[in-house]
Amino acid sequence: MTISTTTTFVVAANGLTAVIAAALLMLVLWQAPRRRMNLLFALTMSILLGYCVANIFGRFIAELGLDPAHTTYIAVSLFGYFTITMFVFAAEFAHERTLITEIMGIGGIVAGLLYIAAMWSDRVIVNIHPTSDPGSYQGEWTTLGQTASAILAGYLIASAVVIHRMKDPRARVLWLAPVFALLGIVSSVILWPITHIPFQALLLAVSALILGRPVLYDQLFNPLATLHKDLEAVNTELKRASSMKSQFLTDMSHELRTPLNSIIGYTELVMGGMYGTLNDTQRDRLEKVVRNGQTLLKLVNDAIDLNRIETGQLMLERRLVSVSDTISSVLDAVEPLAINKGLGLRRDYGLLPAISADEVRLRQIMMNLVANAIKFTHKGSVTVRAHALNNVVRIEVTDTGIGIAADKFETIFQEFKQVDDSSTREYEGSGLGLTITRRLVELHGGHIWLESVVGQGSTFFVSLPIVESHPAEAEAPVSAAA
Ligand code: ADP
Repeated sequence: MTISTTTTFVVAANGLTAVIAAALLMLVLWQAPRRRMNLLFALTMSILLGYCVANIFGRFIAELGLDPAHTTYIAVSLFGYFTITMFVFAAEFAHERTLITEIMGIGGIVAGLLYIAAMWSDRVIVNIHPTSDPGSYQGEWTTLGQTASAILAGYLIASAVVIHRMKDPRARVLWLAPVFALLGIVSSVILWPITHIPFQALLLAVSALILGRPVLYDQLFNPLATLHKDLEAVNTELKRASSMKSQFLTDMSHELRTPLNSIIGYTELVMGGMYGTLNDTQRDRLEKVVRNGQTLLKLVNDAIDLNRIETGQLMLERRLVSVSDTISSVLDAVEPLAINKGLGLRRDYGLLPAISADEVRLRQIMMNLVANAIKFTHKGSVTVRAHALNNVVRIEVTDTGIGIAADKFETIFQEFKQVDDSSTREYEGSGLGLTITRRLVELHGGHIWLESVVGQGSTFFVSLPIVESHPAEAEAPVSAAA
């Protein structure tokens, strides 16, 4: 079997167009939602695909034992319907339902059916026969056939005009698709007999791409842009709500702090005997009032601190601070707590370089870590180590307490998160301490991390730059694994 140059051209051009149609068809069917518009687009591409395949088969009529008339009829019918569905799709894409689009849509479908019926009763193309060019067949158009072809050309021109006038600017660009299909007809009538190059298939490929581009853009890319916009709007709303919440929290916390201080203050005066002597029960109850009042006050203070950090209102008052003095004063303050629980409190640090820090906040960091270590340890000891390393001071707070599971290493730094978050939990606390501690360490340009084994104890590491630095310059955590 010898394959002529023309056949090679026809197969290549129609193959290319078929591949483009199939690719667009699959993209729209698989990636875009199953809307009517997409189904219409898919139908248009399937018809184009069928047309290209029929054209390819049309070059091997003898070899495949096909009926030349039927093969031609199939190709011509598919081309006719490609032009009609192209218009129907464009109207759907533009959401344009006018009398003209309805007439062109329904009228086109009915006319197409009549055309096909006439063709299959041999009234459109007759005398289809092989030409001297191997693989090529030729027929004669009857008067009806010529009229139908003229109507089809007119339909394509009308499609281009109607689409060009549509209201939706996205759809208007589709007007070029029928123009290229028309050029395809012109080329098959004028250029084909001279050049025997299948420009028609290539022009139809352009037509398919013109149709596909806005669909893909609209279905695949535009939804992302719309989503992005929606997210931005939601984000702005969330920011506004969050700032209102912050303001409310600040106001409430300040309102709570004053009466709380006065409750604690007066209770302490009563306990001190200023208003007469107390019996043991009275003293015990008042101690409970003070203890709970202080817990509440700490919670209020923590909430205010966190709010100030989150809204960027907390400014560090840096100066040169002695780390060893700060640690020592914190340990002195908590020593009674450790002694009460029968825990050893070990100090393992020498003279450390002074660092640029906010002393009050450094104290708060240390107090949170050491108080937690004591709170979550029942026997054994709490050890605080510190040493200078390159340009940072690293502090370690180690306990022999209950430990923390590795999957909680991150969550415990989140606000209001505790390892045991049940309502019957054994340990008091708000779950804000570590959140604030981490933020304060980071404000200093440092890092905090931990190592822990459940049942054996934990070590919290804090590294702080000796001289004032940006967060990126500080020492990175060495390890956070158990
Ligand atoms: P809380 O007020 O609950 O102590 P924190 O933010 O300070 O809040 O700590 C959060 C949680 O992390 C604690 O509730 C506890 O579950 C866990 N945790 C913190 N420090 C330790 C520690 N040294 N040993 C064991 N668990 C700890």
